Amino acid sequence: MEDILPLLRVTGADLAALYAQADAVRRAHCGEAVPIRAIIEFSNQCTNDCLYCGIRASNPVPRRYRMTPAEILAAVRQVAGAGVAGTVVLQSGEAPGAGDDQIAAILHDIKAVFPDLAITLSVGNRSRATYATWQAAGMDRYLLRFETSDPDLFARLHPACTLAERLQCLHDLQDLGVQTGGGFMIGLPGETMEILAANLLLCREFDFDMIGIGPFIPNPETPIGEQPNAYADDPDMFFRAIAVLRLVNPRAHIPATTAFDAWFSNGRDLALQRGANVFMPNATPGPLRQDYQLYPGKPCIDEDAFACARCVQARLRALGRPVAAGPGHSLKTSKGSHSDS
Ligand code: SF4
Repeated sequence: MEDILPLLRVTGADLAALYAQADAVRRAHCGEAVPIRAIIEFSNQCTNDCLYCGIRASNPVPRRYRMTPAEILAAVRQVAGAGVAGTVVLQSGEAPGAGDDQIAAILHDIKAVFPDLAITLSVGNRSRATYATWQAAGMDRYLLRFETSDPDLFARLHPACTLAERLQCLHDLQDLGVQTGGGFMIGLPGETMEILAANLLLCREFDFDMIGIGPFIPNPETPIGEQPNAYADDPDMFFRAIAVLRLVNPRAHIPATTAFDAWFSNGRDLALQRGANVFMPNATPGPLRQDYQLYPGKPCIDEDAFACARCVQARLRALGRPVAAGPGHSLKTSKGSHSDS
């Protein structure tokens, strides 16, 4: 904590030096090539009511949808056909139940057709047994952000879940040998700089394979939509956080998350130059994107999968960073079931 807090306060030339150091650490441990993970938001159905989220159960989302297995497979086929992404990320709200068997079946079907494509799943808290079933069906990785390391703040924002339960899920996933991703929101209302430092330390403690962090963006359609980001007056904090995250987790895959683009027009490009090494374009079928808005101003909702593939290639070319070949598995050889490092 004592090491991290001063880094979260640097400004001016010291801030530029922090960014340069994070970029050098990223280059040394992850290389220049950028792994691409294409996200398919296959359902906006959710039984939870997280206070910050636009698709929370009690929000009147215009249309609740769940893609059929055939539609998901078609979207994956499009990702594979574009030839840019080595991983497909299947993401949805948290809706445990009958659909869990369907998820196992779709994992199996995708692996049968595209054995070289890595599959990341991100559908929320589940039992260890369910995670094990999905792993056996072909799931390579799992993303589950803890959002904040502060138990009280977590409890205020997540009516249906405790921080301890969320962390237990992450322990279960790691114990099973699933490549595991955690992470948090930067600047939740009520967050202090000490909580932010503790979030960064918790990521280091878990030694995650992947870590996704991004700024909290108030959604006026939610109960905390009127509360500003804790760093609204100092948005450099979002990039300080990415840079420090890289310094304390040199070999983690760290995506330049979409929320950076919602705050700054070139936010993801800046994140890639300040510690991040992964890009996650949206590959959700165009017509569904309007219905998966966790926060306002979410980029790319008018695009289609091919437009996003072209866009990501152009952005990386402008940064002088090649697209990584292969599935982009964990760089921590002892943890991932595979490694391309
Ligand atoms: S953050 Fe996830 S679990 Fe929470 S309400 Fe939104 S979709 Fe549901």
